[in-house]
Amino acid sequence: MRGQMMDQPLLISSLLDHAERYHSDTEIVSRSIEGPIHRYTWGDAARRARQLANALTDLGVVEGETVGTLAWNGYRHLEAYYAVSGMGAICHTVNPRLFAEQIAYIVNHGEDVVLMFDLTFLAMVEQLAPTLNTVRHFVLMTDRDHMPRETSIDNLLCYEDLVRRSSDRYEWPVLNENAASSLCYTSGTTGNPKGVLYSHRSTVLHAFASSLPDSLHISAEGCVLPVVPMFHVNAWGLPYSCAMNGAKLVLPGAKMDGISLYELIENEHVTLAAGVPTVWLMLLQHCERNHLKMHSLKRVIVGGSAAPESMIDQLAEHGAELRQLWGMTELSPCGTTSTPKFKHRASDAQTLRQLHTRQGRAIFGVDLRIVDDMGRPLPHDGVAFGNLQVRGPWVLSQYFRRERDSAHTEDGWFNTGDVVTVDKDGYMKITDRTKDVIKSGGEWISSIELENILVGHPAVAEAAAIGVPHPKWDERPLMVVVLKPGQTATRDELLDFYKGKIASWWTPNDIVFVAELPHTATGKLQKMKLRELFADYKWSD
Ligand code: ADP
Repeated sequence: MRGQMMDQPLLISSLLDHAERYHSDTEIVSRSIEGPIHRYTWGDAARRARQLANALTDLGVVEGETVGTLAWNGYRHLEAYYAVSGMGAICHTVNPRLFAEQIAYIVNHGEDVVLMFDLTFLAMVEQLAPTLNTVRHFVLMTDRDHMPRETSIDNLLCYEDLVRRSSDRYEWPVLNENAASSLCYTSGTTGNPKGVLYSHRSTVLHAFASSLPDSLHISAEGCVLPVVPMFHVNAWGLPYSCAMNGAKLVLPGAKMDGISLYELIENEHVTLAAGVPTVWLMLLQHCERNHLKMHSLKRVIVGGSAAPESMIDQLAEHGAELRQLWGMTELSPCGTTSTPKFKHRASDAQTLRQLHTRQGRAIFGVDLRIVDDMGRPLPHDGVAFGNLQVRGPWVLSQYFRRERDSAHTEDGWFNTGDVVTVDKDGYMKITDRTKDVIKSGGEWISSIELENILVGHPAVAEAAAIGVPHPKWDERPLMVVVLKPGQTATRDELLDFYKGKIASWWTPNDIVFVAELPHTATGKLQKMKLRELFADYKWSD
């Protein structure tokens, strides 16, 4: 027998409608790209999102088309999130930290028809524009006063002009909840970045689940600072969960350094902040150096890379609790959090610290299991380690415009590429990664790309890139190189070889020369073995 409850679609526009109706005067504070702090409310954001939806409709954008953004965390980007998805188009957040060819690939692959971008990226977009085949309109996300006098982009549109000229009367269409809402690319281990296409349903369910007290704990009583960029898995869904709950939102713009973040946290009374470990290290160092205390912060969500244990105590000195979040672009991204249970209430500090060094237990909606190399399930005993597989309503079922591949098992689980243990209480801990990408400051560096370049050097026979723990950036690339017989090359010469071929922050920190690299029986490079061999490697800088 069918239940008799209403079949109302879960839509992103309803989050904004709710925020406007019940939290209309709750503030959204942004550090603008132009400089000053910008303040308005959820009510203003909703009104301007409708204006933008009208403007995009006038530009000819229709349901199912893709609108790209190259933008920091700010109020205009927030409006774009809601206007684009709300009208039935797909909000494609492009990561500006990628290098030019990858950005061009992503925009072309996503078939973006409009590209909206912050002032910071004007020169980059001018350079890329001729290679962006599907973009019909370029929109600079600024006001008339900041529009460039001259630009090579034909008919560059001004965001504020578009919004100002458009009516704020707009009825959000009642879409199918499974319709695509947004798109985000993730760098794979091989080849081009892969797109993850979210739906309205997955986004709203993820907003519910990530708001829970045991997840990110989002509430109308709180003030939330997403330092994780809005081009990085929708800033962990915070623009949606904050609207759902009517939380005050503080958007740091392009400034994520310790001084700027400290200022925002103190001035805006931020209670919850979220981002990668590198950001918190910078903030904590700034506080320590200048004998500063944070007064309002209750919780810091640390994810993207493992949180160092010392950070738990450092944050505690400011009265803030560290909560680790494990997630992936393919998971929208929230999967597990390290929240303690009732039975841990009497635990000593060391036990709790241990708990927070784990990636955490599953949020309801995320099923997880560990399997061995043959795909056989392993026990959750805290000892057995295997490949982590997940499934759930906000987990990717297939990469955008790609065939189903080995990322998914035949019985429908997603292979995360993380090697983990799960203890009897359900707490997962990452022990290794089967994927070989290197994670620096929360962003991926492709090891394959680094290797391919270096083997192009006439003296290099074989090269392997591995991520080695780094005190500031979590991991930095180290190249392990075998030279051709009879050939010579120096460290500096090989590092120089990268100049102009990759984004400068991708450049490896060091090169070591070895006689041979470890291989499997089938001749595959054994990255795990190599990582083990260099586990104690110490950076000289
Ligand atoms: P994110 O936005 O969370 O960085 P990505 O898709 O770029 O998402 O990266 C996902 C990968 O990052 C995971 O598979 C895992 O290897 C790593 N990761 C994410 N969160 C954590 C964490 N808390 N601790 C350790 N590694 C993590």
